Amino acid sequence: MHKDSKIYVAGHRGMVGSAIVRSLQNEGFTNIITRTSQELDLRNQGAVEHFFEEEGPEYVFLAAAKVGGIHANNTYRADFLYDNLMIEANIIHAAYKHKVQKLMFLGSSCIYPKMAPQPLKEDYLLTGPLEPTNEPYAIAKITGIKLCESYRDQYGCNFISVMPTNLYGYNDNYDLNNSHVLPALIRKFHEAKESGAPTVTVWGTGSPRREFLFADDLAQACLFLMDQYDGRELVNIGTGEDITIKDLALLVKKVTGYEGEIVFDTSKPDGTPRKLMDVSKLHSLGFKHSTNLEEGIALAYADFKNKFVEV
Ligand code: GDP
Repeated sequence: MHKDSKIYVAGHRGMVGSAIVRSLQNEGFTNIITRTSQELDLRNQGAVEHFFEEEGPEYVFLAAAKVGGIHANNTYRADFLYDNLMIEANIIHAAYKHKVQKLMFLGSSCIYPKMAPQPLKEDYLLTGPLEPTNEPYAIAKITGIKLCESYRDQYGCNFISVMPTNLYGYNDNYDLNNSHVLPALIRKFHEAKESGAPTVTVWGTGSPRREFLFADDLAQACLFLMDQYDGRELVNIGTGEDITIKDLALLVKKVTGYEGEIVFDTSKPDGTPRKLMDVSKLHSLGFKHSTNLEEGIALAYADFKNKFVEV
C-alpha cells in the first residue's frame, strides 16, 4: 500500500474496523474510505456492487461482520449465518469484479474444530466438528476463507485471510446479552463496585481457557500482513498465551478495584474448553503483539468508563 492508496475499511464503526482505521491514520494513510451500515447495507448485493463501481477501492480490509458472544451466537443462529455470508460474498465478489489489488478477510478462532489439539494451527481447519454454540457463525467465516482461496485459485486474486483470537479494546460491545466475556466482565465488575453488590456472577465453571488480544495490536498485525503477506494459507493472529475464565475474572476484579466475591453460574454454557492460537507463523513472518493483558484491560476499562459511565 502507498500512503495515498485508496483503502476501504468495511466495518469501520466496529472494534476491529475502528482500530484498523486508527492504525492507518497513525501511519499516514490519507485515502481511507468508509460507509456506515445506514449508508451501505453490505448484505445488499446491488448496493455493494454500486459502491465498488463508484469508489473503485484498491485495497480492502473486510472487518464487517455480525459478531457476538456465546449467548448471541447461540440465539440468533440464522442471523449470524445469513448476514455474514451475504457480507462476505458481496464484498469478495465485488472486489474481484472491480479488480481490487488486495483484500484481507478477517475470520475468527472459532472456525477451528471444537476438539482440535491446542494450540490451534492454521492447518487444523476442517479436520473435525465445530463447537455447536457458534457453528453458524463459524460456517460463515469458513466460507469467507474458501471464497478468498477460490477467487485466488480461479481468478488469481490476491485475497488473504487472517484469523484473530478473542479480541477486546476500544469501541467494544458492553451489552451483557450479546457481548464477549471480557467486556461483559468489565461491565459486571464495574457495576458491582459502583452499587456495592456483594457478588459478581461469572457464567460457566470458570475453567475454560481463552486467549485475548488487544484490538489495536490486531490492527497493527493486519497492516503488517497487508504489506508483507501474499500467501494462500490463512494466518492466525493472537498472543499465543491463554488464561482460565476464573483467572480472567480475578484480573478484571483487580483492574476495576472491586472487593466482593465471584460466583459461577454453571447453568450457563462453557463453550469450547480451550481456544489458543498457534502464532508461530505470525511470529516467523516478523510480528509480535505489544500490549499485555492487564495493561489492555486497564485501557479498555478507561474507554468503557468514558463512553458509558460519565454523563
Ligand atoms: P466464546 O469464546 O465463543 O465461548 O465466547 P465468550 O467470550 O462469550 O465466552 C467465553 C467464556 O466465558 C465462556 O466459557 C463463557 O461461559 C464465559 N463467561 C463467563 N462470564 C461470561 C459473561 O458474563 N459473558 C460472556 N459472554 N461469557 C462469559
